[in-house]
Amino acid sequence: MNSTIISVRHLVKNYGNFQAVKGISFEVQEGEIFGLLGPNGAGKSTTLEIIETLRPKTGGEVIVDGFNLDKQPNHIKKIIGVQLQTSGYYPGLNLLQLIQLFCGLYNRKVDPMELLEMVNLKDKAKAQVKQLSGGQKQRFSVATTLINQPRIIFLDEPTTGLDPQARRSLWELIKQIRDKGTTVIITTHYMDEAEYLCDRVAIIDAGKIIAMDAPDQLIDDLVASGFERPKEMKMANLEDVFIHLTGHSLREE
Ligand code: ADP
Ligand code: MG
Repeated sequence: MNSTIISVRHLVKNYGNFQAVKGISFEVQEGEIFGLLGPNGAGKSTTLEIIETLRPKTGGEVIVDGFNLDKQPNHIKKIIGVQLQTSGYYPGLNLLQLIQLFCGLYNRKVDPMELLEMVNLKDKAKAQVKQLSGGQKQRFSVATTLINQPRIIFLDEPTTGLDPQARRSLWELIKQIRDKGTTVIITTHYMDEAEYLCDRVAIIDAGKIIAMDAPDQLIDDLVASGFERPKEMKMANLEDVFIHLTGHSLREE
């Protein structure tokens, strides 16, 4: 723990006259789940795609596992796993065939059934992506990030649009991946998700990082500044009621 695997310094991205990322700097430690939090349009996806080598930057420096993005992008590509939009998969192939296709592209030998078992999709091996529920699609797309046995995976809003059971199941999968030693960078605008999953978060607003720390520390700092919740919190919230009544098990059929 505590060795830096991603270092971003003074990163700038302009789209024409518009500056979407305004000179942000942060480091990600090996083995952590690092969250980029922020409202829509904050610059989260832009930042991620630059680190993933998929989008050119305007300025600044990015180092991933010792490799400089400007000089060694192909080295970076080899050690990262990027989540694709599920609409991007070849529609005629089933899950097993898609994994085999990726294995060929990456020149890796992976047991497809083992991978599907890890994401709880073994019984869907012969199904096509369009036949999967939202949560299953997301779990499959997370599985595909693992095929090249990456050191780091990037997840851009992986739980958006999922029901509470599917979100929780994806959270457990992400924790499981991290527990095997993979570093995870995730974007979200769900604070409960960030609080549950992330070791550290950077809060981005309008292209700038306005806070960065462990979620607990950010909460403690706010409380220490004199902040109090306007009304007393109940011991549970509506989501607790929902999960209590409907259970944790996935509803995907
Ligand atoms: P987030 O992922 O936090 O919602 P994005 O990184 O997608 O934010 O976008 C940051 C800002 O950059 C937004 O204002 C968005 O409209 C703008 N933007 C993103 N992509 C492009 C693009 N290809 N061309 C022009 N503006 C863009
Ligand atoms: Mg985005």
